[in-house]
Amino acid sequence: MHFYSTADPHLRVDLRRAVLEGLAPGGGLYLPETLRPLPATFFDRLPDLSFPELATEVALQLLGDSLPATDLRKIVHRAIDFDAPLHKLDDQRQVLELFHGPTLAFKDFGARFMAGLMGWLNRGEDQALTILVATSGDTGGAVAAGFYQTPGIEVVILYPQGKVSPLQEKQLTTLGHNITALEIDGTFDDCQRMVKAAFSDRELAQQCRLSSANSINIARLIPQAFYYFRAYQQWDGAQPPVFCVPSGNFGNLTAGLLAHRLGLPVQHFIAATNVNDVVPEYLETASFHPRPSVPTLSNAMDVGNPSNFARMLALFGGSHPAMQAQIYGARYTDLQTRAGIREVFERYGYQIDPHGAVGYLALRDYQVQHPDAAGIILETAHPAKFPEVVEAETGQSVPMPPQLAALAEREKVATPLPADVAALRDWLLARP
Ligand SMILES: *Cc1c(COP(=O)(O)O)cnc(C)c1O
Repeated sequence: MHFYSTADPHLRVDLRRAVLEGLAPGGGLYLPETLRPLPATFFDRLPDLSFPELATEVALQLLGDSLPATDLRKIVHRAIDFDAPLHKLDDQRQVLELFHGPTLAFKDFGARFMAGLMGWLNRGEDQALTILVATSGDTGGAVAAGFYQTPGIEVVILYPQGKVSPLQEKQLTTLGHNITALEIDGTFDDCQRMVKAAFSDRELAQQCRLSSANSINIARLIPQAFYYFRAYQQWDGAQPPVFCVPSGNFGNLTAGLLAHRLGLPVQHFIAATNVNDVVPEYLETASFHPRPSVPTLSNAMDVGNPSNFARMLALFGGSHPAMQAQIYGARYTDLQTRAGIREVFERYGYQIDPHGAVGYLALRDYQVQHPDAAGIILETAHPAKFPEVVEAETGQSVPMPPQLAALAEREKVATPLPADVAALRDWLLARP
């Protein structure tokens, strides 16, 4: 399988380059060259397949001969070791819980699979790859957990001192082994600037074999297609489901489009956003206007210039009408989001997080116009990650999942560093 770039459809690269490079030249994003529907025999067998088994078949369809099937199977089985269960609210609405991984958000799927794949790509090398990431909170935690103890890979995470939540800091600083946290005396922007400078220092990047794990990497998108199939496997509706996706950078929705191209029956997609509504606006007006993001309750969706929009557009051949025919867009304010959390609890006794609540509202409103449609809301994070707002709106405390409870006991280990490019360079080079 080869991958083309959204910035240059004639460019073709192999899996190794697509994954280790991440971003294509000129800022393009990689997509698989061919997307062929899975055979009817796959759908016949689907009811009997385990989650890792079905995920392996989806991965094989997307990656083809890029790596031996036995190796791919091992990577998938190791990465997909937690489930994505459907929770039924009523006959027309179900919730796909994507928060059963180590950091309680759907990004665990992407991070764990990417770690396995990068480890495989680096097999047989003498020197470790160093994954360098700057984080303002959540991404770093998913990457740290995902790459933890991956042979041949070192992870170095830069985070701004005092500017991540205590829980997030624990996720970054307590793993040890191949995960190192650098506590930067500065802001998130400083961290990002330092990481960028390290990558553009060719000598340093080569000597330390630096690589990135950012969200636009095709390796993070592929495993996100798996759980759309897992959802469909559990679906009991008479019609194919509408998939409602709370979105920020639109990786999750793009993965749904990939699943659809692989033959997954889908009635329609819903792009649900908070007030950072660049994509719903595009769907309505055909003009795309990126702008600075606005902070909201559903903060993982505070994105003003969604990078995966380029992939979405490429998948629809650049056609606005084609995209509009398949995706409905809707946006909600924080006030509406709070009311959504209350409504879900009052109607169904279910505690939904602010991101999922945005999805719930969008599906509910879509169903006013399409009363026969039944749908699945992707619940992207565990409500325990947002205890204040969920408890305020439901009047009930959120039970703490064991992954979070265990963190509280662990001890922070971080290396303090000034917000200085040279300091990072010296530190990277001084490692054994
Ligand atoms: C990252 C994230 C999102 C947004 O997903 P995209 O793929 O960027 O659209 C939504 N909810 C949660 C909890 C997230 O962490």
